[in-house]
Amino acid sequence: MVVVMRSGADETDIDKVVKAISEVGGDAFVSRGKNQTIIGLVGDLTQFAEMPLHAFPGVEDVIRVSKPYKLVSMETHPRPSTVWVGDSPIGRETVTLIAGPCAVETEEQTIDACKMAKSAGATILRGGAYKPRTSPYAFQGLGEAGLDILHEVARDLQLPFVTEVVTPADVDTVAAKADMLQVGARNMQNFQLLKEVGMAGKPVLLKRGLTATIDEWIMAAEYIAHTGNLQIVLCERGIRTYEPMTRNTLDVSAVPVAQSLTHLPVIVDPSHSGGKRELVMALIKAGIAVGADGIIVDVHPRPEVALCDGPQALIKDDMLALRETVARFAAASDRQVASAGQQRASGAWGRSATA
Ligand code: PEP
Ligand code: MN
Repeated sequence: MVVVMRSGADETDIDKVVKAISEVGGDAFVSRGKNQTIIGLVGDLTQFAEMPLHAFPGVEDVIRVSKPYKLVSMETHPRPSTVWVGDSPIGRETVTLIAGPCAVETEEQTIDACKMAKSAGATILRGGAYKPRTSPYAFQGLGEAGLDILHEVARDLQLPFVTEVVTPADVDTVAAKADMLQVGARNMQNFQLLKEVGMAGKPVLLKRGLTATIDEWIMAAEYIAHTGNLQIVLCERGIRTYEPMTRNTLDVSAVPVAQSLTHLPVIVDPSHSGGKRELVMALIKAGIAVGADGIIVDVHPRPEVALCDGPQALIKDDMLALRETVARFAAASDRQVASAGQQRASGAWGRSATA
């Protein structure tokens, strides 16, 4: 069950609900939004059935949630949320382009890649400083030095950036500089990391695990939400199937399915799914056509010498096509391409970063 508090409810109202729940042996998890607070109730539902929660001061609604995920469930949240990364929205009304290098390799390469991204209309930059690599002998990323490079380049270009954090010990370091924290596919069920990332209070990009079901993916998001942080964006990045011709299989159906189950924005990664430059544009089209709220794409000035994922990176010559493809497919779906510095509609539920 979920208790939705009125926008004017104060701490005393919230405490009364929490106290009443604990008195009957339940647990209450409070998610404080800018405009509204919701309280997830965990325990035996029969415990709460007799309680007149509707009558408590400050309570707007009491919702019985049938899904195992409560805070991120569509049942809890009447409208899809928009997550703000800096001044860039990710939500159901826009299509947001996130682009940048797979990995930060050098300052020069990062500047070039991020300029390419911006020229294609990206409003959020991406780049990996801490890389989760299959082989311990592969380039592991520049770590904090890479984070500093990305931070400086993003500041110069006046765009926010998302970067991956692979271990709980690095969360504070990454959160101090990044505008959004990425939990990679390989860490989707690293529950300790999910909790730490949630507690950092920054928006989180949660990639779907290579072999995760949609339910498992959403439950992972619930771990983040459980810390009180509802600024979560889901990313479908391809799943492992029997098909070896592509790096992974982009599960396009996961986009509308996840959107029907949760209020969270869902974006698509055409780079890590297809794994080949020549597939990226087609998968971008598919992603937007199926309703994705954004695209996150790898770009590189010289993929032939890239230290990570060169074969899937778009190049300078692709940037115009990238911009036009996103614009054309967004327009065909009656959506605008998100622009940097977009105005926030104030007050409405689901429009604020912390909704
Ligand atoms: C990435 O985005 O750089 C990445 C490693 O992606 P994934 O976790 O989806 O493999
Ligand atoms: Mn990559």
